[in-house]
Amino acid sequence: MPIRIEVDTEKCGNAMECKICLRVCPQRVFMMFPSTYEKYKLSERFYIRPVHAVACVLCNLCVEKCPKGAIRIITQ
Ligand code: SF4
Ligand code: SF4
Repeated sequence: MPIRIEVDTEKCGNAMECKICLRVCPQRVFMMFPSTYEKYKLSERFYIRPVHAVACVLCNLCVEKCPKGAIRIITQ
């Protein structure tokens, strides 16, 4: 069954201040990336992407635990 995972980055805001989805996902589906790149400077804002969606086991933990309601799992 193909699985699509959507993360609403607007709703998420600055992922660095939360990271709950990174912690709860048993399959390590999500990764965090810097929103801006500036030489020799660490970004202050980060966003989440579901880079390993293919590994998702539909446990729904990320959807339940995301405090901003920013994650949607779509099965077709
Ligand atoms: S449903 Fe479960 S396995 Fe799939 S991305 Fe969310 S936490 Fe990870
Ligand atoms: S759990 Fe939700 S709000 Fe927190 S970092 Fe992940 S997507 Fe953003």
